[in-house]
Amino acid sequence: MNKNKIFKWALPFIFLAVSLSFLFFYQRSKIEEMTYYEFLEKVESNQVEEVILNSNPKMKVRLKEGSDKIYVTDNPRNPELKEFLLKQQIQVVEDDSATFSNILRGVFMIGIFFAFLRYMSKNFGQQSAKDMMNIQTSALPGPNKTYSFNDVADNEEAKEEVKDIIDFLKKPEKYIKYGARMPRGIIFYGPPGTGKTLMAKAIAGEAGVPFFSVSGSDFVQMYVGVGASRIRSLFEKARKAGKALIFIDEIDALGKKRAASVTGGNDERDQTLNALLTEMSGFKENEGIIVIAATNRLDVLDEALLRPGRFDRQVEIALPDVKGREEILRLHGKNKPLSDEVDFSKLAKQTVYFSGAMLENLLNEAAIMAANRNAKAISLKDIDKAFYKIIAGSEKKDRSNILEKDREITAFHEAGHALVTKLIAPGHTVSKVTIIPSTKGAGGFSMNIPPDKMYHTKKDMEVQIMISLAGRAAEELIFGEDNITTGASNDIEKATQIIRDYVVKYGMSKSLGLLNIDVLFNNQSQAFSEEALIKECSKHMERLYKETRNLIIEHKYYLNQIAKGLLYKESLSEEDLDDIMEDKFSISDSVNEKEDLLPMVKCNRVVEAR
Ligand code: ADP
Ligand code: ZN
Repeated sequence: MNKNKIFKWALPFIFLAVSLSFLFFYQRSKIEEMTYYEFLEKVESNQVEEVILNSNPKMKVRLKEGSDKIYVTDNPRNPELKEFLLKQQIQVVEDDSATFSNILRGVFMIGIFFAFLRYMSKNFGQQSAKDMMNIQTSALPGPNKTYSFNDVADNEEAKEEVKDIIDFLKKPEKYIKYGARMPRGIIFYGPPGTGKTLMAKAIAGEAGVPFFSVSGSDFVQMYVGVGASRIRSLFEKARKAGKALIFIDEIDALGKKRAASVTGGNDERDQTLNALLTEMSGFKENEGIIVIAATNRLDVLDEALLRPGRFDRQVEIALPDVKGREEILRLHGKNKPLSDEVDFSKLAKQTVYFSGAMLENLLNEAAIMAANRNAKAISLKDIDKAFYKIIAGSEKKDRSNILEKDREITAFHEAGHALVTKLIAPGHTVSKVTIIPSTKGAGGFSMNIPPDKMYHTKKDMEVQIMISLAGRAAEELIFGEDNITTGASNDIEKATQIIRDYVVKYGMSKSLGLLNIDVLFNNQSQAFSEEALIKECSKHMERLYKETRNLIIEHKYYLNQIAKGLLYKESLSEEDLDDIMEDKFSISDSVNEKEDLLPMVKCNRVVEAR
């Protein structure tokens, strides 16, 4: 510890000691006790100048001699005392400012105490001191910098989904007029560092309302009742501000599904969660307060949180695809001197699976390295070094290899789903196909929305099963039977559910006939029915899988094209898909001619071998 540090440590203690002793001696040096008997004697002997009466059990006495000294003695609180003293020609002051000065002193003491705590927590980050502060101050409005959508690159879908919220925060009256009820809570879910907090701040900034934030993890291990009272004071502050956006980070720390354990739940967490739900249902319609919570995992949240009138809108904030990464890099590179060799579109391709925070960090680390070298600009080498620093821990060669393989498998798997959808279900909406993993599942997913219908035909159900099986079928065709992956587990689950209903509920399987198997066996599983059921279901599944595979083989060219598009763009829109199917899609502008088109070659080989 150097001198400076010792001084820094000692300073608050010296300050505290000085202020306390000042208060102590101020009282002790000027004030002295005297008995009531002594007081009466002094009155008799005409030594008393003034008596200060107030509601305290003690009264103050000033003598004619040494009048800067004050004596205190018992106050008999006898209404006749005043008259008696006045008759002795003693000044009587009825003064409640004495208590006032006590209050002042108290306030002063508390002030010093908190100044001390604050100093401690600021300088030394001491958790305990910080906690005490937190309990008092709950959430403070966030930093003064206001954000706007210009600070958030990419995330277009999320921006679109919160547009009406911004308008509502700006003009709640408008919505009142139409009797509309706006959501009170929104959940942002997605991997860490994808800009959920940033997005919430930007919404507050765009709407021009104050931003209040807390984190669910702050509430972990608090004393019972403290969390709930912090929640209440947070909402109170927001209400006082009029309109406001309340942001709760890591809501899962607070609102995890309650485990049905014998030992009972976590009382503190439940109380805090209940306080939150009560506050949320407490604010008036259209008050202009909105709560946004963030989590990495939507599936672990307590359903109570997701009910209408609570967090009834869920917005995914996903990892950026290659285009998104380029935009984020450009945004954070704007105020940095970069050498000409730095090519953001290339860098975006090399940073697969990077979050926005990682990209920001990448450029920041590179800038620090350039500054350390006193270089004019950030070079490609700085960026390379920063890159390996960020993905440190994993061996670079192996890792990038695995990533590339993963990407290929995912691309063909998703291409399988997309291709079969386009071929046999032209009425379905494929809003997006991507190989960027989402929190909903490993690998990518294609959003495949069947048209709304009252009845589903036998054909509809078979189509849905074929779409589900197409991912696995594509994997098998391209990479071989031994290399199929676990990536299809969700698909198989979905397909199995449908085929079960097909056979058991709807009597669509000819050989079992028009029977509801559950009713037939009185909802009790029987060895016989199980065996027959498995046989029947797998027979249909087998048939549909074969059909799916043949379909893909027949259109292998398009499978290749979609997979190729996915490998280069990482996500494809419905228009992109249509363009591919109509041979209008060109990836030449995003593909460097010299770059290896290995997946294409491999695909041809394997498919043709069959
Ligand atoms: P999350 O709350 O999802 O964990 P944050 O909002 O805390 O992520 O993001 C951390 C930082 O990463 C941001 O402050 C910003 O610098 C950067 N960042 C993340 N996503 C984006 C984005 N879409 N555009 C610009 N910067 C981003
Ligand atoms: Zn799949």
